[in-house]
Order: sequence, then structure tokens, then C-alpha cells
Amino acid sequence: MTNDPVDQNVSEPAAPDPAVMDRIVNLCKRRGIIFPSAEIYGGFRSTYDYGPIGVLMLRNVKDAWWRTMVQLRTDVLGLDASILSPPAVWEASGHLANFSDPLVDCTACKQRFRQDHLDDLSRCPGCGARDSFTEARQFNLMFKTHAGPVEESAAVAYLRPETAQGMFINFANVLNTSRKKPPFGIAQVGKSFRNEITPGNFVFRTREFEQMELEFFVPPDEAGQWYEYWCRERFDWYVRHGIAPAKLRLRAHDADELSHYSSGTSDVEFLFPWGWGELEGIANRGNYDLTQHATHSGADLSYFDQESKTRYVPHVIEPAAGATRSMMAFLIAAYDEEEVNGETRTVLRLHHRIAPFKVAVLPLSKKAPLVELSRQVLADIQPRWMADYDETQAIGRRYRRQDEIGTPYCVTVDFDSLEDRAVTVRERDSMAQERVPIDRLVAYLGERLI
Ligand code: ATP
Repeated sequence: MTNDPVDQNVSEPAAPDPAVMDRIVNLCKRRGIIFPSAEIYGGFRSTYDYGPIGVLMLRNVKDAWWRTMVQLRTDVLGLDASILSPPAVWEASGHLANFSDPLVDCTACKQRFRQDHLDDLSRCPGCGARDSFTEARQFNLMFKTHAGPVEESAAVAYLRPETAQGMFINFANVLNTSRKKPPFGIAQVGKSFRNEITPGNFVFRTREFEQMELEFFVPPDEAGQWYEYWCRERFDWYVRHGIAPAKLRLRAHDADELSHYSSGTSDVEFLFPWGWGELEGIANRGNYDLTQHATHSGADLSYFDQESKTRYVPHVIEPAAGATRSMMAFLIAAYDEEEVNGETRTVLRLHHRIAPFKVAVLPLSKKAPLVELSRQVLADIQPRWMADYDETQAIGRRYRRQDEIGTPYCVTVDFDSLEDRAVTVRERDSMAQERVPIDRLVAYLGERLI
């Protein structure tokens, strides 16, 4: 394999602590971050709902990605393609034939496993039986449904198992309407569905999840350098958004892991409490995807370069990330417990762009003049940032509640505020407090929340 960036695993971080996962799952439930789906009906396997705090955080993860990948660039355009698509798309992409996992059943306990996840092929990890597995069967991971009222084969549709194909089949549409030329990319964020055999580890692997994918189309002779560029860029994105480099690594796939059309794939991996797990794959896909769709659809998906007077099918570099899985990594990386005055403080040290609320406005008491002034302060903040407002309980308890959901700044309005027109701003990580004039507050926060 060529052009694979060097592994960036710096020093080995401390051994993962599986117990921490229980505390995070508990925090998610308790604070309205993530709930198990259909809980009042006993739950529905491995599906989750994002609560009032979680929906903000997930949206922030997606927005942070979009900001980096689309907003701050001139060579990437956005797209929002349909989730339902006809079999022809998946025939061309190879998913109908190949998007499957090898499944084995234990004849003793009837449990089902992914063969490639078993450490020992002769011993069932469920019941311990020896040589009890059936032959492996290929199980297609796509969800199949029917469009329209008739369940006939002509009406078969699939829920997309990745967002990528939407970009490929719109390549010509985007090219013809945008005045871009390779190298340029199409970015998309949205839901994908895979009938995973072994979902688990909370939202790490679910059947319904969100992805953030870029298809970057390049002249064939530039593919190697863009592959390296995107590997570094994507690794750095997680670091810039608050994950310590020691908890991340870029792992190049071995030759036997690569798909036949890929000349290089690297995964950005995060050290989850149970070990290293993939957050994102960056693949040098050659011209496989556009060629497949051109062949199957008959559409011309080549590009004619006016300058060099040559026609070529662009090569594709694909950084494909999970939004829900990344959110979980951000949560784990940010989770901290520390002793403060003999008590344990739980704090999510989230990057401010990922934090659900940027600011919380807290009147020291529920007395009318304080509440009124607090509402005015809140009204200054709300058009700019997502802000929480809380007037219940003692101030110390309210700070702790905000720490637990990672709010970077608490703004306390006290009785002095009525006189000096200033508020106390408390910073989450250091707990340092500073008096800031109300008419300076938006500028003060603006300098820190960019
Ligand atoms: P895995 O090996 O974990 O099944 P993959 O290599 O099949 O993942 P890709 O097809 O490269 O994954 O998808 C890109 C990203 O989408 C993954 O890195 C991951 O973050 C996310 N993703 C894939 N499958 C799931 C899932 N079932 N649940 C949550 N996120 C997922």
C-alpha cells in the first residue's frame, strides 16, 4: 500500500476503565442526553432517543463537522439526498452483493454471532459449547422495504446503509450546477441504517445512526496527496474539538483489510473504555464508485478538463465519520470526576462548540427584580448562543448541574447586579469567577466562544 500516513499514536494512554461507561450511560439517562428507545414499552433493542440535552450535543457535533468541511472551505458543497432508494443504486454500488456479514448460529444455545468477531471458532462465547457452530451464512445488512401500497418486487426499496451513494449519483448534478472542477467535494450528514447482527456498546453500534461523509473528487494523479491530506485533516479535527491526541490514533489498514478497489484506507480510532474503536474511515477509493454508476446507469460521469483537454473519471477520497459514534467519543473524552471541597464534581470538559449549552443564566434568587434583570441578560445571549436558564435550588447545586452537562459559562445575576450593572461569569473547567459589566457580556462571551 502506498501513501499511508504514519501512525500517529503518540504514547500509550492509561488503561481503559470499563466502569466509566456505566457512569456515562447513567449520566445520559439522568440528564436527558440519551434515552433507550420505546422504554415505556420495555425498550427496543439497541435503538436510542436523543433527549433535550443530547439533541443539542448531537446537532453541535454535526454542525462542527459542517463548519469545518463546508462553511470554512470553498471546495466543498453540501447535499441532502434521500434515505429511500431503488435496488439499482445498491446493485451498482456493490452493496446488494457484498454488504454482508458472515453469521454463525450456536446449535446448543441458539445464539447468533458474527464469525469475524469470534476469538475462538470452536467454542461458543455464549454457552461454552464446543464445535457447536453452523456453517457461516452471509447476511445482508441493508433494511429492505416497499415503496407504495403493494408489496411486490417492483416496489422494493432500501434504506441507505451509508450516505455516500447519494453523493455519487448526484455527482453530475452538482458538477453541472456549481461551476466547480476537481478537486472538489460533496458533503452530507444524515441517517443511515444497517441491520447489524451485533449492535452494542451503547450508541457505538446501532441499527439506525447518523453519518457525516465527504466524497472528494480529484484528478487521478492527485489522489495520493489528497488521501494523505484528508487523513491528517480528519485526525486533527477531533483534536481541535477537544479529544486528547493520546486517545486517538490513525491506523492504516493492512492489505488484507482493504476492499479490492481501495489503494489505501486509514481509520481514526478512539480509545473507548473497552479498547480502540473506529470513529471514521478515510479511503482512497479510486474511480470505482463513479465507474460503477456510469456503467449501470448509462450516465456519463466523467469530467472534461478544459485546460489539459483531457477527459477522466475522477478518483474519490472518502472521509466517512459517524456522528452518533463521535458524539459518544466526545462524551467519554470529556467525562471527568474531581474532588472539590470534599465532594465529587462531575464535569463534562467539552469543547465549547460541542457543549449543548454555551451559557447558563442563573439569578441568585427568585426575587422579582433579579428575575427581571436575568431575563434581560438572557435576551441578549439567546439570539447568539444556546443558553439555559435556571432559577431553582442553591447556586452551588445549579453550578454542578451545568458542569454535568458541560456548560462552559455560568452567568450569575445577584443583588449587586441591580446596582453595578455587572454579573459574575464562572468558567466551567477552572471554576474561576470574574465580574463582567452587563453591557460587555456579549463581547466577553463572544471572544471565548468562537
Ligand atoms: P464497523 O467496522 O465499525 O462496522 P464500518 O467500517 O463498516 O464500521 P463505515 O462503513 O466506514 O463503517 O462507516 C463510516 C462510519 O460510520 C464509521 O466509522 C462509524 O463511525 C459509523 N458507523 C458505521 N456503522 C455504524 C453503526 N452501526 N452504528 C453507529 N455508527 C456507525
